[in-house]
Amino acid sequence: MPAERLPGAPEGEDRIVCHVDMDCFYAACERLKEPELADELVVVGMGYEDGETHGAVATASYEAREHGLESAMAISEALELLPRAETADPDAQNVGHYRPVDMEFYESVSEDVREILHDCADVVREVSIDEAYLDVTDRTDWGVAAGFGRWIKDRIRREVGVVASVGVAPNMSAAKIASDHDKPDGLVVVPPNELREFLAPLPVEELHGVGPVTAGELREMGLTTAGDVAETTPGELADRFGEQGRTLRRRARGEDDREVTPRGRPKSLSRESAFTEAVAEPEPKREKVQRLAAAVADRARRKGATYRTIGVKAVLPPFDVNTRERSLPGPVDDPDLLESVALDLFAEFDDERVRKVGVRVSNLSFADGDQATLDGEWDDAGGDDDPPGNIDGPEPPQGQVTLDALGDDEDASDDGDGIAHDAGDDQSSLTDF
Ligand SMILES: [Mg+2]
Repeated sequence: MPAERLPGAPEGEDRIVCHVDMDCFYAACERLKEPELADELVVVGMGYEDGETHGAVATASYEAREHGLESAMAISEALELLPRAETADPDAQNVGHYRPVDMEFYESVSEDVREILHDCADVVREVSIDEAYLDVTDRTDWGVAAGFGRWIKDRIRREVGVVASVGVAPNMSAAKIASDHDKPDGLVVVPPNELREFLAPLPVEELHGVGPVTAGELREMGLTTAGDVAETTPGELADRFGEQGRTLRRRARGEDDREVTPRGRPKSLSRESAFTEAVAEPEPKREKVQRLAAAVADRARRKGATYRTIGVKAVLPPFDVNTRERSLPGPVDDPDLLESVALDLFAEFDDERVRKVGVRVSNLSFADGDQATLDGEWDDAGGDDDPPGNIDGPEPPQGQVTLDALGDDEDASDDGDGIAHDAGDDQSSLTDF
């Protein structure tokens, strides 16, 4: 039953927003691939293979987290806490099943989830590979919102096989806090009349946008809970934190009038895939190019996009990124042409040692005649093109591992509130900043 807007109520007053966040998504995907990992301690990351010394945990299953593993933890530290199953002492009590990041597969699972979400809501804003906001105002009502949230969770579990936590609240920031509140497998509904009460006791860290540094400063000011922040005078936090301080206070008071809006049209679509070790032989590389080209073509078709420019990327060790592209006379939707152009462009690298391959289409047009206005760059998604490279490479900001989901422009993470966010609990990802 659709919620009725009270006459004269300010717009947004009775919005119903759902935040859906997959639980330890990468590990959940690995369990889809290998059901026998169901009750095991699963660690998804890079750099645990013999002879490698650098790397980081991308996601750990909740069972593994109980042993102290965390996203972005150095792999050497992880291995100390949880020896690798394959090489551990046979008598070892707890062993970790380490798996490399397989972005292509995670993205395909994510697509399946997205289809369900789009079926459950009129407006969906995807914020990352495993997280989305839904405006469900016209689909449910506060009286039955819990059942609605349960239905979304059940569909995802039944149809895709992964577990999501869901928060339902009158606005985006509260919905996000709600989905986080009872993870994993959480379902938390916060109706408008309970919002302030729900937020008040939460530690400041749980407010959207508060990282350890900000939390420390708030505590110094004597503000330890969202309720404390809510009760500050309007100027108090603004003096200390500027505009972000104002936003923080509003969020703590349960005020957030952002509308859930879908992401803009992507400017480009790309897929990338890394080899465990650099490969010199042409054949495995060409196979990868073919596979990626097919995945990109499929994605473009599903989005109703045609493309005029085709590009490839070759990353040579250690971090030498090369891109080549070619523009066609007009936009096409032609998987065979995409493959042959990509292979042709890639020929230059056939005999090079390559550790990572990418395929991209850009200059997109959409069925309804809309044209993306800007040419994308490979690194538009946030300037990080290369997950393993980043893990191997310099320390990412704030100790996060930056894993570029895809390089699609639409995946540039920011949920539109203009404030920096801390990494979610699940996997390190290209979020924040
Ligand atoms: Mg998640």
